[in-house]
Amino acid sequence: MSASATKSATESAAEGADKPRYARVLLKVSGEALMGDTQYGIDVGTVDRIAREIQQACEIGVEVCLVIGGGNIFRGLSGAAKGMERASADYMGMLATVMNALAMQNSLERLDVPTRVLSAIPMTTICEPYIRRRAVRHMEKGRVVIFAAGTGNPFFTTDTAAALRATEMGCDALLKGTQVDGVYSDDPKQVPDAERYERLTYFDVIARDLKVMDTSAIALARENDIPIIVFSIHDSGSLVDVLTGKGRCTIIENAA
Ligand code: UDP
Repeated sequence: MSASATKSATESAAEGADKPRYARVLLKVSGEALMGDTQYGIDVGTVDRIAREIQQACEIGVEVCLVIGGGNIFRGLSGAAKGMERASADYMGMLATVMNALAMQNSLERLDVPTRVLSAIPMTTICEPYIRRRAVRHMEKGRVVIFAAGTGNPFFTTDTAAALRATEMGCDALLKGTQVDGVYSDDPKQVPDAERYERLTYFDVIARDLKVMDTSAIALARENDIPIIVFSIHDSGSLVDVLTGKGRCTIIENAA
């Protein structure tokens, strides 16, 4: 084989290594992931860093949409525990997700990544209302779509919103960016010898009550056969690594 032929084979192997496994994904980022080292609210530097991860994913040709939680600002359950009516508290939690979505849009746009925020609770002064067909169109045009306000209904979580939107958008995978590099048998920060799983079935997660996403989110992903990929959002380059099949993660799917 000639030197140039060898080179092109090497080059194409390298290209293949960076070829994404998924054409369209939904990334779920919890509100807590946006706090950085702070105890509350939005750390702009951290949001910027996650935005760069998303930019890299777009650059390798993956269509990305996002669901962002609100736990860094307000959770309905904590409001209810302090005596608030649960539904009102949940609406406040949904509003918190809108603030996070706007912060992420801002970070992405500063990187020149075209982004649209679509809210399940219409607030047309600041973002578009959620219309499924419009969201699909934005994605086809290469825009990052951020779904705000969860499902728009109290008594749900943004995990369920993530599984719902991933299904509606026809995503090939639901990526859950967490504080650790996969699913463990126990909290690895509390139990140092906790087992880390490479692969699990949806049934395993529900039966062993592993704290990955809430049960309704797992059930929805299972019913629609959307793999859930759990990885660390804090390791630089981890999103692209996971998308190209190189990253450390746990994949949850139906048994082969
Ligand atoms: N929420 C809701 N319905 C939804 C999504 C979210 O009522 O469809 C409320 C709920 O009160 C929740 C809060 O929004 O506590 C923030 O969302 P979540 O706790 O899922 O955020 P995360 O834990 O991912 O930061």
